[in-house]
Amino acid sequence: MQSEKISIYGISYNNVTLDEAACLCEELLKEEKNHVVVTPNAEIAYLATKDKQLGRIINSADVAVADGIGVVYASKVYGTPVKEKVPGVELGMRVLENAAKSGRGVFFLGAKPGVADLAAAKISEKFPGINFVGIRDGYFKDDGEVIENINASGAEILFVCLGAPKQEQWMAENRDKLNTRLMLGLGGSFDVYSDTVKRAPKIFIKLGLEWFYRLLKEPKRLGRMMALPKYMFAVILDKLGKKGK
Ligand code: UDP
Repeated sequence: MQSEKISIYGISYNNVTLDEAACLCEELLKEEKNHVVVTPNAEIAYLATKDKQLGRIINSADVAVADGIGVVYASKVYGTPVKEKVPGVELGMRVLENAAKSGRGVFFLGAKPGVADLAAAKISEKFPGINFVGIRDGYFKDDGEVIENINASGAEILFVCLGAPKQEQWMAENRDKLNTRLMLGLGGSFDVYSDTVKRAPKIFIKLGLEWFYRLLKEPKRLGRMMALPKYMFAVILDKLGKKGK
């Protein structure tokens, strides 16, 4: 499947729907090499404007989907709207559903001790055919030992949920050492799959207010979330600047 790439304020995204993103992942899994999937939101996209190395890392991924209403709005500001928002947590679920059908080995890496185990247990109930070949929390010191563990497990699909930008950096640094075929950086997805953290009610998601619900639930995120208005402001200024030229 060919997918058009759209550049939005320095970050290149695949212009895909959730269904198409899941298909892309299936196609990448057929190739005998490792691939990286990232799901940047406005917060990480804004961080990447300050940290050029992070921008390069994100742009070196095989697939990047627009995760979050900020990026979707920004794509409209530039006159190149993405087809839809593709939440990483939902893309991950599709990948797991397909993995249950194909039998490909899945490794969960990330979150606080016990959370990924709980997430895997819930996913196994939902998709009984799924083949989990390894689970580890995200608070490890020795990358080498973790990489050995993943390679020995024979996993083809690796969920890396260490939070952004740690997971993007970790995947870029280690992709060539891992024998997996598809690695996805999915932030707090294990917290959601395990029901440790609830996603916003559908109405908030539909109205593009998931960020607001999250803020209500976790007010300490306010500092981080200020990246959203800063990102939008920077995008609008950039667009106006380009218009003036
Ligand atoms: N995390 C981890 N290792 C770390 C730091 C964070 O495994 O060294 C996990 C954390 O427990 C949580 C996830 O990474 O499950 C980050 O969740 P958050 O909702 O902050 O994701 P983000 O918004 O960064 O995508």
